[in-house]
Amino acid sequence: MSSGDADAQRAANATAPRIPDLVGRIRGLFSPHKRALVVTVVLVLIGAAVSVAPPLLTKQAFDRGLFPPGGPDVPVLLELVGAMVGLWVLSAGIGVWQTYLTATVGNKVMGALRIRLFGHLQRMELAFFTRTKTGVIQSRLQNDVGGVANVLSNTISSVLGNTVTVIAAFVSMLVLSWQMTVVTVFLLPLLVVAQRRVGQVRARIATKTQESLSDMTAITQEALSVSGILLAKSFNQQHAEVERYSAENRTQIGLQVRQQMSGQWFFAVVQIFLSVIPAIIYLVAAWLILRDVPVTAGTIVAFTTVQARLTFPLMGLLRVALDLQTSGALFARIFEYLDLHPAITNDPSAEAVDDTQLGRVEFDEVSFSYPDAEPGQTTLDGVSFDIAPGQFAAFVGPSGAGKTTVSYLIPRFYEASGGAVRFAGTDVRRLDQESLVGHIGIVSQETYLFHASIGDNLRYARPDATDEQLVDAARQANIHETIASFPDGYDTIVGERGYRLSGGEKQRIAIARVLLKDPAVMVLDEATSALDTVSERVVQEALDTATRGRTTIAIAHRLSTVRDADVVFVVVAGRIVERGTHDELIALGGVYAELYGQQVAS
Ligand code: ATP
Repeated sequence: MSSGDADAQRAANATAPRIPDLVGRIRGLFSPHKRALVVTVVLVLIGAAVSVAPPLLTKQAFDRGLFPPGGPDVPVLLELVGAMVGLWVLSAGIGVWQTYLTATVGNKVMGALRIRLFGHLQRMELAFFTRTKTGVIQSRLQNDVGGVANVLSNTISSVLGNTVTVIAAFVSMLVLSWQMTVVTVFLLPLLVVAQRRVGQVRARIATKTQESLSDMTAITQEALSVSGILLAKSFNQQHAEVERYSAENRTQIGLQVRQQMSGQWFFAVVQIFLSVIPAIIYLVAAWLILRDVPVTAGTIVAFTTVQARLTFPLMGLLRVALDLQTSGALFARIFEYLDLHPAITNDPSAEAVDDTQLGRVEFDEVSFSYPDAEPGQTTLDGVSFDIAPGQFAAFVGPSGAGKTTVSYLIPRFYEASGGAVRFAGTDVRRLDQESLVGHIGIVSQETYLFHASIGDNLRYARPDATDEQLVDAARQANIHETIASFPDGYDTIVGERGYRLSGGEKQRIAIARVLLKDPAVMVLDEATSALDTVSERVVQEALDTATRGRTTIAIAHRLSTVRDADVVFVVVAGRIVERGTHDELIALGGVYAELYGQQVAS
């Protein structure tokens, strides 16, 4: 791993990120759903009011229905039982409605957060993706947002539902006997202290668990992709891959067990505590009766029943408090990504590309260093050139000289560190990015096709293209006959990253895709270097058609492909050392002539 990667990993995995005003921001996420939340709170209050009554009715059932001085009074008992059943049905109905509302709000909030994060990542500059593992990014989007979504949709409804029951239980307990309630309440702070302690431990473990999960996703993503599997198989590294995964898996298991166990002793204490309370209540009742405080059998039964009903909701609430601390850690990880600022953005006064000089590309004393490069390491140094509309310009030179880097600066995938890059006469920093990129077509050696039909892959460049336009572009790219020969034609599904097509076929589909975009400037980055001679010829023909009448910037290893260029730039160690036509450069007898001599000889 390079130090750049390591830094990126550290940045992406920063432990327990501190996000300013976490609570306020989480509240902000819920603000579009104020109405649903208000309705929910009203339902909670009604629910609370409704469920205060049954315990009081229990007392009445005992004292007036079952054990009145003259023996059981059945009509009164029936009336009381009927009322109790009615109230429970009502409260169950309110509970369902409330759960529906909270589940909807919880999932909508998370859905919106997921889209915001995805949209934000789309705006991040290329450098962010080259320094961060894909799996790590995926993990934030899936595991972290998913984790919060789970906690939230379970939490909101259980918080509200349990709050109702707990409030109702306390009100009933107060009505039944304030003295017994005081004793009960007096014991509660013990639980809160224990819960806080466990909560902190759990939040810490949760952050570590998510980091480990994100490492696992990164390994899965790397190892189980077509390229990853091919690499592992061809180097006999399957065992090593399994070992790498197992090691992370062991960490994950350990963390999960720690996370679950950290709450267990606490819940055991709660359980004991809640079981012992009724016994204490009998003692308190005896003490009260001895002091002539009126306590009936009905009061004791109703009070201990309410207490028993308090157990689960109270445990639920305490558990939720723990879960919330955990989800706070997950939210922090999500906000940390949302707070990343894209390094390359549109200037507020950005303008669209000016049509009058469309196709002109100029570099004016451009210097550039990659954001993650070692200090002082420059990739481009004082590069200047002016390519006129319609010209065919070629960049050649040794590997690592900076040719591809030149092509990245034109669509502003990276920002020049010094000097100016101008497109159609305007500094790219002053151009609207969409307009700029809309005029540039890139065909590189590495062709990326989606796992979708050929037609859909082509339409990526122009969603509204007609079938005729697709065929026309495919014809120009020399691929129509091949597509038409597939049983499903343009509906043929391309395998992951286009593995079911040959390199040359993928390349020509990529050319057809760029042709649909109809750009003024075509960048060909070693587009044919990975192909055999026959394929290369077919692709080269496609490229010749595709580049006719457009400014073409070709980065080439095989100098035979640039013989017809209007101008050839020879790049060595980030500088243009020679420029001219093929014949001029041969006559010059410099770097180009030497490279050409080597290629002709081989
Ligand atoms: P080739 O012909 O092998 O494709 P090139 O001339 O196109 O080479 P570039 O890809 O432009 O060369 O790379 C120029 C230099 O910048 C190389 O030393 C390379 O290692 C470095 N480089 C490329 N991409 C990055 C990056 N994302 N971060 C840091 N350094 C980079």
